[in-house]
Amino acid sequence: MSTIVSVDTRDIRFPTSLELDGSDAMNPDPDYSAAYLVIRTDAADGLAGHAFVFTIGRGNDVEVAALDALRAHLVGRDVEELLGDMGAAWRLLAHDSQLRWLGPEKGVMHMAIGAALNALWDLRAKRAGLPLWQLLAGLSPEELVSLVDFRYISDAVTPAEALELFRAAEPGRAERTAKLLELGYPAYTTTPGWLGYSDEKLERLCREAVADGYPQIKLKVGASLDDDVRRLGIARAAVGAGFPIAIDANQRWGVDEAIEWVRALADFDLAWIEEPTSPDDILGHAAIARGVAPVRVATGEHVQNRIVFKQLLQAGGMAVMQIDAARVGGVNENLANLLLAAKYGVPVCPHAGGVGLCEAVQHLSMFDYVALSGTMDGRMIEFVDHLHEHFVTPAVVERGRYLTPTAPGAGTEMHEASIERYTWRGAHVAEVPA
Ligand SMILES: [Mg+2]
Repeated sequence: MSTIVSVDTRDIRFPTSLELDGSDAMNPDPDYSAAYLVIRTDAADGLAGHAFVFTIGRGNDVEVAALDALRAHLVGRDVEELLGDMGAAWRLLAHDSQLRWLGPEKGVMHMAIGAALNALWDLRAKRAGLPLWQLLAGLSPEELVSLVDFRYISDAVTPAEALELFRAAEPGRAERTAKLLELGYPAYTTTPGWLGYSDEKLERLCREAVADGYPQIKLKVGASLDDDVRRLGIARAAVGAGFPIAIDANQRWGVDEAIEWVRALADFDLAWIEEPTSPDDILGHAAIARGVAPVRVATGEHVQNRIVFKQLLQAGGMAVMQIDAARVGGVNENLANLLLAAKYGVPVCPHAGGVGLCEAVQHLSMFDYVALSGTMDGRMIEFVDHLHEHFVTPAVVERGRYLTPTAPGAGTEMHEASIERYTWRGAHVAEVPA
């Protein structure tokens, strides 16, 4: 038996705003940041669970305070008992009646709960000696169902239906695991498309993306229609006719404006329009989906929980689901989201980038391929080539595909030196003497 002895938290901020990496129509100067936690135990193996909430700078200290508020729930707990019933671990944190007032099941507190659950999953995977995707894909359909909170979604998918979905995928698990290890998982890149980049840089990065083997690129839009027409023209010429180009408005528009704007760009043959409006506007998404068809509407990186995903699917407001590893209630709630997508037959193309999001979310797509949807068709994970060097087991993309991770854990552990160097001390590291 072992016990959790500490929950250490850190406010980690990278000075990405200095290079305009990650700039879009709503977020012109992000500093990619992690509200980071480490769950340590008194076990002789010395293994610890690492995870984080991704933020873009200011407010990361608020997120750290939310992580700190979970400490009392975790320190002193029996590790084997907690890791052995992760459905109960979800209930312990997500159903806390006082903390729940801060959501319910959304926002700063819910994201912190997600990170705490992800840290426990990291620890469980390390103890099992397996990458998280493989740990999850080896669980019985019954255990997988036990991890999901069906409250508020059983009108869309019931536990019995979920069990059927997992059981239906069970026979092909071994074959798909072998295929995944051999081929990896498709990636697409957002690197060319940041709004702050010059036309020359956009053109060069578009060509490089095709040469590097990516099956799709994505451009940020929504600040100026004239600029969007010019930039999409440059991108389309660089990648050629028929090559998929998605666009991302990062919630910039109202509903009517979104429809008008996307129609004005539709001649560029768009793979999808991402986050056209507020992530909470379900009926607005449905109106936009009708208004811009056949361009597909994609969303999810700011969808706060399984309940909003459910409604987006029920209303026909989302044709591509973009789960995020650090937005909702951790692995448990993302299992609910993957189940909803499988039930409604919608492809999942996760949001990634930021810091550590590629490392974390690849495990969920790979699990989905092996043990749930059973397909990679029309699926791909976003990839942005930033900040991977800070992780102990960085995500690797080659020839447009994520290489399947084989190291134990959830991929969410940062190097100690990076944690130390980028711990926020009130100024950017670039402005602080090393
Ligand atoms: Mg986006």
